[in-house]
Amino acid sequence: MAIIKQKEKGILVVVSGPSGAGKDSIMNEVIKNKRVNAWISISMTSRLPRGKEENGKDYFFVTKEQFEENIKEGNFLEYASYNGNYYGTLKDKVNEHLSNGIDVILVIEVQGALEIKHKIPESIFIFIMPPTMKELILRLKKRGTESHDVIIERFKKAYKEINELNKYNYVVVNDEIDKATRKVNAILEAQKCMVERIEEVYLNNPEEEIHELLIDDKDFDNNELNV
Ligand code: 5GP
Repeated sequence: MAIIKQKEKGILVVVSGPSGAGKDSIMNEVIKNKRVNAWISISMTSRLPRGKEENGKDYFFVTKEQFEENIKEGNFLEYASYNGNYYGTLKDKVNEHLSNGIDVILVIEVQGALEIKHKIPESIFIFIMPPTMKELILRLKKRGTESHDVIIERFKKAYKEINELNKYNYVVVNDEIDKATRKVNAILEAQKCMVERIEEVYLNNPEEEIHELLIDDKDFDNNELNV
């Protein structure tokens, strides 16, 4: 038996950062290298698919009306409007994964992150930064999937989002994807070791016997300790 029992429920991890900072790429790498048992939530959006995006994989693409129907039905854990489109996290799947002990990653914008902070304050909040603002605009242009106007809107929004940085627990600068991925993994692993996650400590096992021998200051040999 392990010496401690930790909470079985998964951790809710909220990841934000300006469009083009590389949030999705980093989180996909985190999932791929399997150091943590986590699942990335698939959001619903009213924006149109971009490039090679697929329905049910990148997002659940719906109309504005369908999205509003889901709001009325109370299906969202959080939702927000971003550059004229709705984006929202569906409640059911998130709860199901958390209950099954799987960490859930939400890659969402700042407004939605603040809503989660209000509803589930024990979640962890990570902000991904581009190395420079110049690099951010270059990445947005290089993507080649948005019009000039949309790129400008997203770039302007980036400044507003960075202003909310102090609401987050961690910041990771994405200068190199491997380095940034390692840092996010380290944050997730450290979170699992938080003392708050301990539910019980079991001393009624061989470790306790060793402890008793030590405090009794009894003579013992290595056989007795069985080490
Ligand atoms: P994009 O159009 O680039 O896919 O997403 C625009 C912004 O919306 C990004 O910052 C993305 O992280 C965020 N986003 C994606 N899904 C959700 C969601 O379910 N809720 C909220 N609040 N933001 C989301």
